[in-house]
Amino acid sequence: MVDIASISAGISSIKVALDITKELRSIDSSLKDAEVKLKLAELIETLSDAKISMSEIREENQDLRLKIKELEEKLNQTEEVEFRNGHYFLKNPKDGKANGPFCAKCYTDNDKLIPESELPSRFHRLGKYQCPKCSSTTM
Ligand SMILES: [Zn+2]
Repeated sequence: MVDIASISAGISSIKVALDITKELRSIDSSLKDAEVKLKLAELIETLSDAKISMSEIREENQDLRLKIKELEEKLNQTEEVEFRNGHYFLKNPKDGKANGPFCAKCYTDNDKLIPESELPSRFHRLGKYQCPKCSSTTM
């Protein structure tokens, strides 16, 4: 992962490269070729640094896009529930997993799908289902 320092490094490399270009433009023609060659070497090195920083930034950008896509998919997944008779149910049940009922309180408060347990019939006065996490009972 690239941090903000890489972006700053890339930007400062580009600034240095621009400064060198300005110096090259203003170099008096009477100066020796050696000085021009030295400045060109500096310019190439600085531009290479900038290129490396930019490719790191591009990689990070791709990673971030991927992460955003994953999170969006996750978000869509959590939206695929429906509320019926005081419980949440999955609209599209997953392989081998019950599609509900899930505790409405836990889903509303914490976005967590907690499968409710069915209470023995002697407790049905309190409710038919109970959440193992928050202990709320529902008919
Ligand atoms: Zn609960």
